[in-house]
Amino acid sequence: MKRQRILVVGAGIGGATAAYTLSRAGHDVDCIEIKPQPVMAGTGICLLHNTLSALRAIGLEAPCLEYGFPFQVFRQFTSAGEPVMNSPAPPACGIRRVDLARVLETAAADAGAKLRRGTSVAQLDNTPERVVATLNDGTKKEYDLVIAADGAYSKTRAAVFGRECEARFAGQSVWRFNARRPAEIDGFCLYRTPDGKRVVGSFPTSPNDCYIFYLENSSEHMHLPADSMDALLRERLSEFRAPAIQEALAGVERPEQVVFRPLDITLVPRPWHRHRVALLGDAAHAPTPQMTSGGGMAIEDAVVMAQCLEGAESMAEALEGYCERRFDRCKTIYDASLQLCLWEQEAVPNPPRSAELLLKTYQFLGQPY
Ligand SMILES: Cc1cc2nc3c(=O)[nH]c(=O)nc-3n(C[C@H](O)[C@H](O)[C@H](O)COP(=O)(O)OP(=O)(O)OC[C@H]3O[C@@H](n4cnc5c(N)ncnc54)[C@H](O)[C@@H]3O)c2cc1C
Repeated sequence: MKRQRILVVGAGIGGATAAYTLSRAGHDVDCIEIKPQPVMAGTGICLLHNTLSALRAIGLEAPCLEYGFPFQVFRQFTSAGEPVMNSPAPPACGIRRVDLARVLETAAADAGAKLRRGTSVAQLDNTPERVVATLNDGTKKEYDLVIAADGAYSKTRAAVFGRECEARFAGQSVWRFNARRPAEIDGFCLYRTPDGKRVVGSFPTSPNDCYIFYLENSSEHMHLPADSMDALLRERLSEFRAPAIQEALAGVERPEQVVFRPLDITLVPRPWHRHRVALLGDAAHAPTPQMTSGGGMAIEDAVVMAQCLEGAESMAEALEGYCERRFDRCKTIYDASLQLCLWEQEAVPNPPRSAELLLKTYQFLGQPY
């Protein structure tokens, strides 16, 4: 399809990548982001082998590897820091989210996408022929396609698809922080308590930095005092005497350094479009983080969306093709992530069973899509 007028709602991982792939393919792209400023704090993210391949295909692997920390090893330790297992792992790269956002947004702007911050959609008039978008600053513009890349809690999805696909709680919350990288953390590292029930994970995000996470089970969303998050985190990790974890934790001096959130999930049934509004990334499929793949799936979505527009004769054909190529793959990752999350909530954990599913799903990720 020739030059289309496209609005991307949300400039997160999926939205910024879509703004890039679609501008690069010659489309006329506006991208709007509700946050007025780029997020400067935040955590890290692991780009798995398939994500790196997708980034390579669009010319963005090199800057990610340059900012981040490539690794190919999986290590397990006891919570006291005794090594338990080292094994080779498929190539991956840890990167600070802020650096990934910089790579994607710079690429999108250089390719010609117009990014506007601090605004959102007030109304969409969506017909088979076109979409008229009214923004909350009153601006009105006609588009051939609107891509809802506004995340798991997508308001665009709610407005166009209804509320039955709202994200729901998966029974876990995550504690995260960035730290100076202890030398030991040179790959994906897990530290497990003797009963196997509690695990701290970490991976490097640059030669100097690493990212640490800890998952906690609860029957519903937890509401915790924002001004005590550092103390609450320290309390939870007190059993993890591993020097690398304690060294990283020593750098957490302020509550704002700790990022805490519930894990909310959704998988929207197909099709992922209504007339000319299509879902992409977490707005369509928000898994739990066990497969470290939600961001990778959003990047792949953006690559495939551009390919489908390129090869189709009509918008309907392009959007049907996009969902056809993405649904089963994203569902496999969603199901595996949720299964691992549910197993972690069982009274008696079974790490070998989880490792088997993880490995099988990593292999699946390497398949063409
Ligand atoms: C704890 C945790 C760890 C994870 N680790 C990994 C990992 O290691 N590897 C991996 O690949 N994935 C990981 N993920 C998943 C990954 O973070 C998400 O899948 C990814 O961020 C989805 O990208 P997105 O662009 O679809 O959504 P988001 O990143 O949520 O971006 C949505 C954007 O839309 C904006 N927005 C929201 N509403 C509006 C609106 N109304 N108008 C305009 N803009 C709006 C938001 O401000 C945001 O910038 C993890 C997730 C969690 C929770």
